[in-house]
Amino acid sequence: MKKILLSAALASIPVVPVTAQSVSGLVEPQVQGLIQTYKGLHAHPELSHHEEHTAALLAAELRKAGYTVTERLGKYPDGTQAYGLLAILQNGPGPKLLIRADMDALPISEETGVAYASSVKSKNPAGQEVGVMHACGHDIHVTTLIGVARVLAGSKSQWHGTAMLLGQPSEETIDGAKALLADHLYERFGKPDLAIALHDTNSRAAGTVSLTSGAAMAASTSIDVVIRGIGGHGSQPQVTKDPIVMAGEFIMQLQTIVSRQENPRDPAVVTVGDIHGGTKRNIIPNEVKLELTIRTFTEQARQIATDGIKHAAQGVGVAAGMPEELMPIVTVLDAESTPGMYNDPAMAARVKTALTAALGAQNVFDEDPIMASEDFGVLGLEHHQIPTVIFWLGAMDPEKFAVATAAGKLLPGLHTSRFQPVAEATLRTGVTAMSSAAIALLQ
Ligand SMILES: [Zn+2]
Ligand SMILES: [Zn+2]
Repeated sequence: MKKILLSAALASIPVVPVTAQSVSGLVEPQVQGLIQTYKGLHAHPELSHHEEHTAALLAAELRKAGYTVTERLGKYPDGTQAYGLLAILQNGPGPKLLIRADMDALPISEETGVAYASSVKSKNPAGQEVGVMHACGHDIHVTTLIGVARVLAGSKSQWHGTAMLLGQPSEETIDGAKALLADHLYERFGKPDLAIALHDTNSRAAGTVSLTSGAAMAASTSIDVVIRGIGGHGSQPQVTKDPIVMAGEFIMQLQTIVSRQENPRDPAVVTVGDIHGGTKRNIIPNEVKLELTIRTFTEQARQIATDGIKHAAQGVGVAAGMPEELMPIVTVLDAESTPGMYNDPAMAARVKTALTAALGAQNVFDEDPIMASEDFGVLGLEHHQIPTVIFWLGAMDPEKFAVATAAGKLLPGLHTSRFQPVAEATLRTGVTAMSSAAIALLQ
């Protein structure tokens, strides 16, 4: 009797195996429409903190796909509301999976020459006019999320649980994920059991993906330095303390942090990306401002680099004979810093299995960790409370990629004016890969 009841109960649950064909049947009819959506987004990029129209488009598409959508999520430290959005599709009891797409673009003037290139101009926070471009491919991510939403809505017999699709603002300024948590995202909508994201890349051909297990991306720490001097006439250095010379010494001193102070087995980067001082060739200015970024994988390496920068700054001040009240100022910007991205090994293994089944083993690669950073890890909470995985989505034209690789080169990369994903194959693979991973995790 028991046996009969059990088999009757089992028979009432349609067990449809997840197959590459069943996902592809839901992806293929969408591809041409998604390409148009992508081109529209690409032509209308919006800077971090300003993703208003991108978020509205994404929200509308997710509602159309049957999701319950909440908009204007996220609170920045200055009290302004962000353009985050969360779309929820409940499908019975089971795990809650967060799937993230970031939405913001960069202050770069596009030079790809494609028909749908951006000619958008905007003002940066300093009030300067800048070109705006989806040079990190977040338009690919948004479009992919729309496709994934539809696949999940159309394949509810193959998964169970809750799909939480997140449109994240302000990844490039790495304050978007923090803003969402500050707005009590998880208290209001539930804490996910797992979180996943993808990012496009110029280091792989479209049609392929890659994945790191464990530490995947470095922590980023932003530091401002002001080297103060005593200005004067350029012809009379003897009555000045020249902060430009001090800045030069400081920058050279920084080069010994990674080479002489860090453990060679614990990678780190110290980069000065921005330096400003002076107004005219014959004036010695009062100060020079520098913007630095540190990349590290361990707290120890981060501390050594931070301390090294402080010591080097102090050292050039002392060597120049600066009075105590005019010593260099070093400021660590916590709001512009982010922890490393750690791919939970057990979850990464499940994702890799799903990606391999969907795309074929020849299209799924293991990836080394990189020194770039992401704020997606913030959504996993401290000490990796929520297992997270980010995987790389190849975005380059396969033929051009092969020619470049044969010559030992890469095609133009993320954050450059010529970064050019090939839309069709990238979107097809992105939707297929993320949908297949999501279905595998929602079991
Ligand atoms: Zn990005
Ligand atoms: Zn980026």
